[in-house]
Amino acid sequence: RKLGIALVGLGGYSTNQLAPALQQTQNCRLAGIVTGTPSKAEEWMKKYNIPKANVYDYKTFDRIADNKDIDVVYVVLPNSMHEEYVVRAAQAGKHVICEKPMAIMPKACQNMIDACKKANKQLAIGYRLHYEPFTKEIMRLGQEKVFGPVKFVESSDGFRSGDPNQWRLKKSMAGGGPLMDVGIYAVQGARYVTGEEPISVTAQFAPKTDPQKFKDVEETMFWQFEFPSGAVSNSTTSYAAGVERLYASCEKGWFELAPAFGYGPLKGRTSKGPIEQPVVNHQAAHMDGVCKDLLDGKKLPNHVTGEEGLRDVRLLQAIYQAAETGKKINLKA
Ligand code: NAD
Repeated sequence: RKLGIALVGLGGYSTNQLAPALQQTQNCRLAGIVTGTPSKAEEWMKKYNIPKANVYDYKTFDRIADNKDIDVVYVVLPNSMHEEYVVRAAQAGKHVICEKPMAIMPKACQNMIDACKKANKQLAIGYRLHYEPFTKEIMRLGQEKVFGPVKFVESSDGFRSGDPNQWRLKKSMAGGGPLMDVGIYAVQGARYVTGEEPISVTAQFAPKTDPQKFKDVEETMFWQFEFPSGAVSNSTTSYAAGVERLYASCEKGWFELAPAFGYGPLKGRTSKGPIEQPVVNHQAAHMDGVCKDLLDGKKLPNHVTGEEGLRDVRLLQAIYQAAETGKKINLKA
């Protein structure tokens, strides 16, 4: 059996990545859509053969509770809207996948976790890289200390953002700038290469090169984590220019992924030579992995749960706090 997924929000990620990936998945299929735009509903019904009964807008959304075709609701809306739709999906008795960042503030993450627990439904975050072979190999190299203990990590993710009117540049909807959007990958990278949780953070905002476009959010920023083993990391995130690299220097060698966080193919090498891994569709691997566990009635692995989403959101907020105060912030476990 394939689980039926309903995508909520038919923007860029749903249109260009998730819906095409759902044509390749083994454990799930595109069963429904939730959209506020009637023309998109028409187009998607035709293109993906979705029955009208499985099409909702934001007002009729809660009726999804009565729809047996839909097992999982996948929330792909602007960051500030994740909480409301995850909670409503859980209340409708559906498992939920929610895009990253899970929310803007830790409190919202906790509400989402609580709502899913209360409904006895599972919550996954859209952490596709945990199902991606090059990333899994990098995690193994770091966590199993294949090149000895990790001493320092460089983990950076940024791109040149376009449209000055997009929600990503509005603090109320995005929660911040590139840190919330792609900096979260750099945070994840430092965490999964070391396999440790940071114990302190320092951070800095770079000067803005376009203060008008970036009046509401940061354009570029840097931060540093310190880990219990003594490993340290340095990261950049930016909407001004591209950067995409995860590099670890270890006692007996080094390894890196570059590109490290995009849709692939990712590319990796170590001080001993290239990393060879199969190239997969990240979104299909993620949704299939999550849905396999749901079908088997298993608890989702830690790395994809709401608790993991919450850990990252706490760190993102600590990074902002460190940059705003200019102080080193100690992080409690
Ligand atoms: P997008 O701007 O392309 O799409 C957002 C969608 O939300 C649009 O269809 C828009 O119509 C809809 N929407 C509903 N109410 C809205 C409102 N009040 N204001 C603005 N839009 C509204 O964005 P996207 O790139 O698809 O991103 C959606 C989510 O997916 C974000 O949380 C983003 O971080 C995440 N994302 C994740 C990945 C990944 O690799 N995991 C990649 C891209 C985006």
